[in-house]
Amino acid sequence: MASEKVIIVRYCEIHLKGKNRGYFEQIFMNNLEKALAGIRHEIRRPSGRYVVENFDGTKTEEIVGRLRKVFGVHTVSVGTKVPADMDSVFAEILRIAPEKGTFKIETNRADKHFPLDSMQINAEIGGRLLAARPSLRVDVHAPDTVLHVDVRENGTALVFEGIVKGAGGMPVGTAGKGMLLLSGGIDSPVAGYMIAKRGMRLECLHFHSYPYTNMQAREKVEELARILAGYTGGLTLHIVSVTHIQEEIHKKCPAEMMITLLRRFMMRIAERLCRKTGAQCIVTGESLGQVASQTIEGMTSSNAVVGLLPVLRPLVGFDKTEIVERAREIGTFETSVLPYEDCCTVFLPKHPLIRPRLDKVEEAESALGVQELVEEALAAEETVQF
Ligand code: ATP
Ligand code: MG
Repeated sequence: MASEKVIIVRYCEIHLKGKNRGYFEQIFMNNLEKALAGIRHEIRRPSGRYVVENFDGTKTEEIVGRLRKVFGVHTVSVGTKVPADMDSVFAEILRIAPEKGTFKIETNRADKHFPLDSMQINAEIGGRLLAARPSLRVDVHAPDTVLHVDVRENGTALVFEGIVKGAGGMPVGTAGKGMLLLSGGIDSPVAGYMIAKRGMRLECLHFHSYPYTNMQAREKVEELARILAGYTGGLTLHIVSVTHIQEEIHKKCPAEMMITLLRRFMMRIAERLCRKTGAQCIVTGESLGQVASQTIEGMTSSNAVVGLLPVLRPLVGFDKTEIVERAREIGTFETSVLPYEDCCTVFLPKHPLIRPRLDKVEEAESALGVQELVEEALAAEETVQF
């Protein structure tokens, strides 16, 4: 057997899932395959890890970049598969070892029948390396370089150096499906990322008030959906106009209730689309107390129109600075801060209601033809696939 380049993928929490393990692993495998679509490769699954083989060597970095974004991936390493004998392992170690500095050999031995145990392999390979490179030194506590040897059951060993951190979380598709209310702001893309990271498949719903909001605002949201789709393995974006709803509220209800009432319409429309698409909850980017409408009273008023459908607010306990940090990490920040108007800023009252009382809200809302407005908005729904 000749040596061959491989990419090793280790997963996170899947091993915790007992008898559901097969189900989780199958979904994870599909997600890895989807992430590598368009690049020649094969993924094998020897126990406890996934190994990418037979891939286009010029695309190694691209492959690692894509794999580390897949939820469920704990770490990724680029290495070489060699025959599991000391000469072949050492030849590869010598090829990747640095010229100077400190190192340690770290061995994992899956094949318990292998004649040497891990400590013996460390000593044997380490000793040979010291003899071949006199300017190297061993440091088992804080080495500059860790050289890994992983002896597998099938007569092969994997030899590699660095370990790249993956996205973590659970494979998308193992925790149901949610409808993310996606504005053009900083928060909702982060909320979607966090919930997808726990394994939930996402659909997105965006509301616009064209012509009060412009086409660039829409393109910005499409770009955010595209970035999220990179993490979720594709998603559907639903786009619904609330222009007429806002005009009606503006005409017939107290000005300070604009946001409160608009939110209830958003939730009703989201609930209908959940039923249509099989989504099991609504996800928003709200954070407690961040702005006037994100009080517990405001959330109560929104929740009141969706019955038992759960509303997940993964950012509820986050500070804005923490959300911004995440947005930068996941690559949505630059797009989110493009200066286009959101529908919530149209007809924005000077003094929005901070603690809406449900009875007052319902009273104000009774001036509107709620059902007809919802139907009308849904009738003009558009969808875009990413
Ligand atoms: P974001 O940064 O996500 O826009 P925000 O701090 O601006 O949040 P709000 O504008 O009060 O907060 O919106 C709260 C949440 O309501 C958003 O996180 C999002 O989930 C939803 N939302 C607001 N505007 C829209 C919109 N135009 N389309 C879809 N969802 C929206
Ligand atoms: Mg916003």
